[in-house]
Order: sequence, then structure tokens, then C-alpha cells
Amino acid sequence: MQKKADLHVHTSFSDSTFPPGHVVDYAAKIGLACIAICDHDVIDGIEPAMRAAQQHGLEIIPGVELTAEKQGSEIHILGFFIDWQDTALRRRLAQLCEQRIQRIRDMVDKLKGHGIVVDAEEVFALGGEGSVGRLHLARAMHQGGHTKTVEEAFRKYIGNGKPCHVSKINLTPEDAIGEIVKAKGVPVLAHPGVMGNDGFIASYVKGGLRGIEVYHPEHPPALSRHYEKLAGQYDLLMTGGSDCHGYGKERILMGSVTVPYELVEKLKDERR
Ligand code: AMP
Ligand code: FE
Ligand code: FE
Ligand code: ZN
Repeated sequence: MQKKADLHVHTSFSDSTFPPGHVVDYAAKIGLACIAICDHDVIDGIEPAMRAAQQHGLEIIPGVELTAEKQGSEIHILGFFIDWQDTALRRRLAQLCEQRIQRIRDMVDKLKGHGIVVDAEEVFALGGEGSVGRLHLARAMHQGGHTKTVEEAFRKYIGNGKPCHVSKINLTPEDAIGEIVKAKGVPVLAHPGVMGNDGFIASYVKGGLRGIEVYHPEHPPALSRHYEKLAGQYDLLMTGGSDCHGYGKERILMGSVTVPYELVEKLKDERR
């Protein structure tokens, strides 16, 4: 049987409901050979996942998903095979996590102006260890009875461009690519169909981008075909993954999008 890899998985160190050990058990249970741990702006889930994976013979790719901003849009850059012990990377991520805390406070303030009172501390408690983000805020809003679903919190208030959204992200995609390259990782543009403006891809390639996430649950087949073509045009690797957030999304997505293991070999060849 062909070995399969899911190259985009979150843990509870960012906004998945699954701690690393649970992520690993689940991946092994559904027969994956390899997963990439790609938490938002944090890498502390990697080591516990690697430890848990030993007994299953599952391969863990140390990764990260950096949040950047380009002309008001949020752009996510994945970094595969980063040196997760790199002190400069750790320092930069710690700064980004601090900014995330302030960003939540700012969104909580904006929500108050719309009659929605959420306790920021409650959001941080949901965030647990690691990075805090909008999915935690949306869950707090839902739990507080302010929205009928988590999705509604994004749709009405904190989704990109909605009235209570605060971006305040102090990193451009080009910077994010640079941070990943400095940490010896392979930078890949995450789910461009969700957030992107394809017009910027040329500039990312100039900045050192090496791949594009072609396969993603929010990319319908026609969109994947489109990004396959772009990847060919720019000579980029084509990655894919489920962007699993445990129960943070409506269902557990792990394994719903995979790539053949050969792609992992290609990513390894890209490391410097
Ligand atoms: P942040 O990193 O704080 O900007 O939050 C981004 C995260 O919010 C994404 O990775 C998703 O987990 C989540 N998210 C964004 N938009 C939505 C949405 N419409 N519905 C559910 N979750 C979303
Ligand atoms: Fe997320
Ligand atoms: Fe993302
Ligand atoms: Zn993600």
C-alpha cells in the first residue's frame, strides 16, 4: 500500500482541541505514515508529538504555520523541516505570540463596542499553552451565548474584514519566508485559495518561496487544478494536508487530504 502523509496538522499548542499525543494516536489509527505539525506561530507541540510517535513508527515533520499580512489580507506561510531548536526562531515566535495576546484584547474591546462582552482571560484559558487566536475567541463567544455557532462569530464579527477583526500582524509574507529559511526550513504558501491574491505569488517566489499548498479541504478540485498549474509555472513543490484542528472544526479532518510519501522525500531534498 502506498504510504500517505498529511502535511498540515495543528495541536492544542495552537488552536486544535487535540494535544500532541492525541494527534499522533489518531494519525496512527487511520494509517498515516507521516504528519507535519504546523501550529500557528508556535513550535512547542513538535517535541511531544515526536516522543509520542516513536511507539507508532509514525514520522513527524517539524513544521510551523506563520501568520503574515499583505495589504490588509492575512497570508499563512508553512515551514517544513524547520530547526525547531533554533534560538532566533524561538525568540521571534515568542514575540509573535505576545502580539497575539494583545490582538485578542483589542478584539475583545471592539466586541464590547458591539454589545458583546467576553472576558479576555477566558479566551486565554481556552488558548491554554502556546499561541492564542481567533478560534479560541470564537469559542468563547459561542460558549457565552453570543453566537449560535463558532462559525457565526467569524461570519459576523471576527472574520477577515468583519467589524471586530483586528489584524495588527507585524510580519510580511516575505519576512515569514525569510524566518523559515533562516531556520533551515522549506517555506510553502498555505491554502492560497482561502486567503490569497495570486498576484503576490511572484513576489513570494522572489523572496524564497519553495512550495504551494495545492491540496486543502477548502480547495475544491477546480481550485487545486489551478494551483497545480501555478506550481508548474513557478517551479514550486505541491503540498497538501487537512489543516486538522481536532474538534475545532465541524469534524475531525485528519487524513481527509493527503499526499503520497514521495512528496516528503522531495521536501527533504529542498532542505539546505
Ligand atoms: P488567527 O490565527 O488568530 O488569525 O486565527 C486564524 C484561525 O481561525 C484559522 O487557522 C482557523 O483555525 C480559524 N478560522 C478562520 N476563519 C474561520 C471560519 N470562518 N470558521 C472557523 N474557523 C475559522
Ligand atoms: Fe487555526
Ligand atoms: Fe492557515
Ligand atoms: Zn492551519
